[in-house]
Amino acid sequence: MKITIIYDNETWQPGLEADWGFACLVEAEGRRWLFDTGAKGTVLLANMEHLGIDPQTITAIFISHAHWDHVGGLADLLPLNRDVRVYLPGSCPRPPEAREVVSVQGPLEIAENFFSTGELPGAEQSLVVKTAQGLAVICGCSHPGVGTILKAASRFGRVAALIGGLHGFKEYELLADLALVCPCHCTQNQAEIMGRYPETAVSGGAGRVLEFG
Ligand SMILES: [Zn+2]
Ligand SMILES: [Zn+2]
Repeated sequence: MKITIIYDNETWQPGLEADWGFACLVEAEGRRWLFDTGAKGTVLLANMEHLGIDPQTITAIFISHAHWDHVGGLADLLPLNRDVRVYLPGSCPRPPEAREVVSVQGPLEIAENFFSTGELPGAEQSLVVKTAQGLAVICGCSHPGVGTILKAASRFGRVAALIGGLHGFKEYELLADLALVCPCHCTQNQAEIMGRYPETAVSGGAGRVLEFG
């Protein structure tokens, strides 16, 4: 699988705009899923254009949670791809521009090798992708807590990678067995995680591409 960070608080590639929020393109099994949409449609679309990601090639949108810095780009993106299906956590309000919405409640296999943890306490779902190397978990802000997310994901197999915003996460030992950690967006203790796991932790930033599995 390949993950391209489109929207992040920092940039990895010159020419992209940094802004508080998160969005990434998840490519696996011939699918091109957009995970979250950042805060501003203008920044999302400009960064996508710079990265050569045509909005019409997105095959589904997966929204982690209803916070403005994750759903803000939807209103500008959806008119450019009217047929895309949007997977929302159950409590998230339906975006008026969306034609096809799937409201996710409990844990679910959405497509072959693509899973949702289901909406966890904290009103957030994480995307789980099965790869040859184990499961990759992509999270928005980790409001349910990283431990809760990893436990929920592990019902689908062995978690091997974690990418996304980890908020105030401090239980660093939970990351010990992972092959890849990319703590970005709202992660407050990024330096500690990078220092503790120099072999497996990588920084994020808009434009960063991670291949895994
Ligand atoms: Zn956030
Ligand atoms: Zn949030």
